[in-house]
Amino acid sequence: MLKEFMINTPSEGFIDITSQVADILRGNQGEKSLCQVFVPHTTAGVTINENADPDVVKDMLHALNHMVPELAYQHGEGNSRAHVKASMIGSSISVPIMNGALHLGTWQGIYFCEFDGPRKRKVCVTIV
Ligand code: ZN
Repeated sequence: MLKEFMINTPSEGFIDITSQVADILRGNQGEKSLCQVFVPHTTAGVTINENADPDVVKDMLHALNHMVPELAYQHGEGNSRAHVKASMIGSSISVPIMNGALHLGTWQGIYFCEFDGPRKRKVCVTIV
């Protein structure tokens, strides 16, 4: 089963989408074992990290911005740093399902990672 939802993003940042993904899983019937979250974009990504302290994802963005410097990039759209960060983060994650719920660790959340917003973005959730 594949379902999609849309989010409005800021210029850049990590948006916690755990509850939207869990809602899709709750609406699903039958025995399921894996949930995949895929982001169909080239300047955004998806990752799993701590959702207890909001400073963690701020620090991740801070570190990514230092790892991907302002250079004389060739891509004419002017958003090459966002493309590089998107590939560093990746465009999909998967989470095991146990007893009909996302089997995330205690401190884990699912984050949409925006590097070139603000935009209206799509998130695809596949449950098998
Ligand atoms: Zn581009």
